[in-house]
Amino acid sequence: MIINLNEAFLKQQNLVAFNFFNVETLAAILDAAHIENKVIILSFGESYISHTPLPVAAVMAKEYSKLYDIPFVLHLDHATKVETIKQAIDLGFTSVMYDGSRLPLEENIKNTAEVVKLAKERNVTVEGELGYLNKEDGSDQVEIVCTTVEDSARFVKRTKVDALAIAVGNAHGIYKKEPKIQISRIKEISAAVNLPLVLHGSSGIHRSVLAEAFKHGIRKINVNTELAVAGCRGVYDYVLTHGAESRLENALSDAKANIQAAAKQFLEI
Ligand SMILES: [Zn+2]
Repeated sequence: MIINLNEAFLKQQNLVAFNFFNVETLAAILDAAHIENKVIILSFGESYISHTPLPVAAVMAKEYSKLYDIPFVLHLDHATKVETIKQAIDLGFTSVMYDGSRLPLEENIKNTAEVVKLAKERNVTVEGELGYLNKEDGSDQVEIVCTTVEDSARFVKRTKVDALAIAVGNAHGIYKKEPKIQISRIKEISAAVNLPLVLHGSSGIHRSVLAEAFKHGIRKINVNTELAVAGCRGVYDYVLTHGAESRLENALSDAKANIQAAAKQFLEI
């Protein structure tokens, strides 16, 4: 059953969003959700479009999930173009993220508000982002700009988003050193906006810290890197054992098993 983000929050207090971009990543996530009996967010990033066209991703998620009896959100992650958002909504995505975090605040507010307007007409939920992390693939390391309470209150009031992604010491990609997540800032922002908060870059954050974040206002965590690494490890080990002149589907099957195991860990938090 495909639902939007608000409907998912009514069914389950906290949610995990996992990225998918092919059939192995998709099936691994659905398997993990099925085993853990959890509502899940299938997240497809705008940046994956060069790998898998958006219509293919939409059909793949909608058709494959019919094999499972789990409620799920089909979410467009980190969309920077309104065109992509419109296309995703037409294709049946139930949730979209407009990422204007690199823009000046006023421009981010204006664009996000426009997205909310067009999404609401179609019963699609919108996640906005405030405070800049780094690129989604973690390829750049920048000084994290932490989200302020004042900006959050202003942003939420004027955009009417359904969820807000914040920067509180988290980053995309592999952390070079143990990340320090500012739980106090999460609490303050949560009190000010009274809205589900989202933590991107949750791979590599200690599980106990994620559990703490869930207690204080984070209600959605985004996980990609740990799944990606688990998948690569599966292929790597397969090739080490069987050599490169092997069956690709068998190597990918090992990748899928590893991704499923990694996803399960997050659903158990
Ligand atoms: Zn992200």
